[in-house]
Parts: sequence; structure tokens; C-alpha cells
Amino acid sequence: VGVGPSLIRLAAPGFRFRFHPEFRLRSLLRRRRMAAAAGTARQAGAAPRVGLLYDQRMLAHAPAGKKEKETPERLRAIWRKLAAEGVTSRCVGMRAKVAKEKYIASVHARKHVDLIRKISSKDSSDLKKTAKKFDSVYFSKGSSESAFLAAGSVIEVAEKVAAGELSSAIALVRPPGHHAEHSKPMGFCLFNNVAIAANYLLNERPDLGINKILIVDWDVHHGNGTQNMFYSDPRVLFFSVHRYDYGRFYPYEADASHVFIGDETGRGYNINVPWEHAKCGDADYVAAWDHVLLPVAEAFDPDIILLSAGFDAARGDHMGDCCITPNGYALLLTKLLGFAKGRIVMALEGGYNPESIANSVCACAKVLLGDKFTLNSPEMQPFESTWRVIQMVRDELKTYWPVLSSKLPENVSLRSTPSY
Ligand SMILES: [Zn+2]
Repeated sequence: VGVGPSLIRLAAPGFRFRFHPEFRLRSLLRRRRMAAAAGTARQAGAAPRVGLLYDQRMLAHAPAGKKEKETPERLRAIWRKLAAEGVTSRCVGMRAKVAKEKYIASVHARKHVDLIRKISSKDSSDLKKTAKKFDSVYFSKGSSESAFLAAGSVIEVAEKVAAGELSSAIALVRPPGHHAEHSKPMGFCLFNNVAIAANYLLNERPDLGINKILIVDWDVHHGNGTQNMFYSDPRVLFFSVHRYDYGRFYPYEADASHVFIGDETGRGYNINVPWEHAKCGDADYVAAWDHVLLPVAEAFDPDIILLSAGFDAARGDHMGDCCITPNGYALLLTKLLGFAKGRIVMALEGGYNPESIANSVCACAKVLLGDKFTLNSPEMQPFESTWRVIQMVRDELKTYWPVLSSKLPENVSLRSTPSY
């Protein structure tokens, strides 16, 4: 196995933030014991069983012109890289499944499910006309099938991981999902795949014993759809780290800010870490993990983690203009493996540079398979703004998560805000 919190220290020699107050030795040891005691799929000494779902039928959703960035090539590039690195043969291969409409309708309006089902029967001018009614969406003949398969695929892998048949899994799906709202598609997303799977585990499969789900959304954009679907639901802790730029970054809504923390019994269960500008990289994300996500995850103690795994914050992605390296993603994922007995389901969201997403997914897959890596990031200091944002988030949430009341480390060396 070998992938546990102990690797965090090996992976990042000299890393500035590894000994923060919340991430104490005691909790490290406890999580290591939990990982060792995990279910059938991750027995001590046995190789982890990592599900890998790829299906060419999800290439059928394709833009007509070259303007759109959410292309089938994204999936192909990932698959080529995983095959070339020998990762595909080490994983448990899985095929996509069509989601039942009743599962999709658990988070989406009937009207919306009907719209997506009927897309494929429209002619091309009708497709364009329909897409124009929404924000940043395109449709093609294959959109209906792809959307139902993407939703069904995340259900499929989540069920297998929850049941202990797999240690963890990666669902290479498209169209992505986290912007899709209850009643409308949005931002390249047709159905909210991760939300549908979360709802399935909580409401359709009580036999699997999943009562608390942590959704981590590291896509560079705010997961607005997912936030709204679980805003009053304390069974789902939603954590999104994203560029916000004071509302000047897509989707341009104020609800991506840190003051949106959930409602009613769900107060405290919605966490936004809103970056103020571009260029955030490994050190910024690790700081958000160490000083917000991990302490809260420890207190929440999820039964499974669903990862809205967009890779548009990756180095080389011009849409996100951030700088996470492949091994930076590997480190962020490694840190999550200490929770929920390592049960992690990664579902692809955004990411628009095929080379960047291929390298990033590959690094993540190797982490799940138990490979070691070293972090060799050129930017080991977070921005001043990162520290400020983290403090704001902690202040907003400390009533609900007392662990966030402690003081942040002092004398931390920080980088100044980038100039443009
Ligand atoms: Zn995105």
C-alpha cells in the first residue's frame, strides 16, 4: 500500500507547511491505523484496487466548431497518457453505464432531465438555438447519450468504492457536471454527475452505510451547482477552492465567496476558498488543505470522498491561469487518502489543456495505485493573499468547526501578489 499520511512528509522534503498545528502526530498515527484497517479492498500489504472508467461513447458529445474548449480530445489525451505509462493495465477497467432517470431527477428538475434526453433528436439549428438559452453550453447529436453515461458512470464507480469492491476510482467522464444547476445546464455541464452520485449513495443505498460525504472541488471554477444542491444538507460537506477575483471570474457570482457557508442545518457545511487572483500554485493549495480542508475533514470524518476533479488550475491551462504541478495534485490527493479509509472517487470536471490534464490525472492515478513521488515545485511560498483568504475562511467557519479557531502559524514567508 505505502500511500498514507507518512508519505506526505517524504513527498515534500523541506515543505514549509507540513507541521501546522492541526495536523499533529497523533492524528497522523490515527489515520495511518485507519488506513491499515480499511475494508477488503485495501488490505495491508495488498495492492490497492483502483477502478478506472473510460468509455468512448462519452466522446460523442462534441462541439461543431473550434471555439469550444470542452472537447473529446481531453479524454483521449488522458487515456493515451495512462496507457503509455502503464497505468491502465494496473487499474480495474470499467465501462460506462446509463444513469436511471430517477437518480438524475433526485437533484435535477424533471423539465431539465427531459431537455437533455431530447437533445439528440434535434437538428443542428435547433441545437444551437437551444444552447443559446443557457450560459456557456453547447449541444451535439451525442450530448444526450454522453450526459446520461457521465452521470451513470460516477454512480457506478462510487457504488463500487462505497461497497469496498474497489479501494478508490477515477471516472473519466464528460460532459462535466459541477456547474449544472437544478433546472439548467451551465458552463459546459449538463447533469451534475458528482451530486447525482452523492445523492444516490445517501438516499438510494442505505445498505452501503454512507451517511457523510465530503465533496472536494478543486476545479479552478466554483462548483456552484453542487453548492446549491446540498446547501442545507449537513450530510454533505462541500469544499470548493477556486478563482474568485472578487466576482470577476467565471461564473461571476457572489455565492462563490467565503461567506456562503450553508443554510439551516447545513450551516458550516459549505466551504468556499476564493482566490483573489491568478497564478496560485502548489503552495497555495497545500496551505488551503493544511489550514482549512484537512482539519475540518478530520472533524467531519466522512465515509467517502467524492472529488470534483477539474484540472484547469493546472500549470499550462490558460483558462485557469494557475500553476498546480502534476505532483502538486498528487500531494493534495495523498493528503485526502488519510480520510474515509482512503475511499476516494475522482470524477473529471474541467481542464482544457490536454497535456496538462493528462499529466495531472496520471500523477493522481499513480498516487491511488500506491506509487511514491517527490514534490519539486518551484513555488514553495503561498501568496500573501492566500494567507489572508485562509484567515477569512477560518474566521467565517470557526463557530461551526472549533478546530479553525487556533492561530495560524506566524513568521511564514509569503510571496507578494502577482502583477499583470
Ligand atoms: Zn473549471
